[in-house]
Amino acid sequence: LLPSVVILGRPNVGKSTLFNKLIGRRQAIVGDEPGITRDRHYGVVEWLGRNFELVDTGGIVPDDEAIIPVNIFRQASFAIEGATLLLWVVDAREGVTPLDEELVRHLRATGKPVFIVANKVESESVRAAAGEFYRFGFDTLFPVSAEHGTGTAELLDAILDFT
Ligand code: GDP
Ligand code: MG
Repeated sequence: LLPSVVILGRPNVGKSTLFNKLIGRRQAIVGDEPGITRDRHYGVVEWLGRNFELVDTGGIVPDDEAIIPVNIFRQASFAIEGATLLLWVVDAREGVTPLDEELVRHLRATGKPVFIVANKVESESVRAAAGEFYRFGFDTLFPVSAEHGTGTAELLDAILDFT
């Protein structure tokens, strides 16, 4: 059984972009299904000869419901229960939002280990601003740009060290 790493976060922070970047070329196209997003939501990542399962919960929860944090957690609960590690993706350019504050309560309630992934870090000023997310008390924060692929190697190294 592979370790399972589960991506969570509010809409538009870049969860699917990160998922696709980490999955790389091995991603498959999934057809339209009514009521759910077309995004693929799980896959296997290979890094340095090891594998883990990656789940994008944004692909599980319909977009219109994803705005309510309790629904993110309720509908993705099977993925979260099986998780070895949660990746909480945040938008470092926007900083902490009320939705993030609400999400973090649910994240803590899972009792699972959490890495913060501060996405959209494409300048030194945004990198510095990302430190704001340390206030939630999680130990580990990775500044990345999922779009450009910066910081993702460090994130993958840390995931493998952890799992
Ligand atoms: P999700 O709703 O959390 O899955 O977010 P998406 O992956 O769909 O991305 C939401 C928006 O943010 C899209 O317009 C992406 O192009 C953009 N985005 C995602 N990652 C990055 C990034 O690293 N840098 C920048 N500048 N934009 C990004
Ligand atoms: Mg998405």
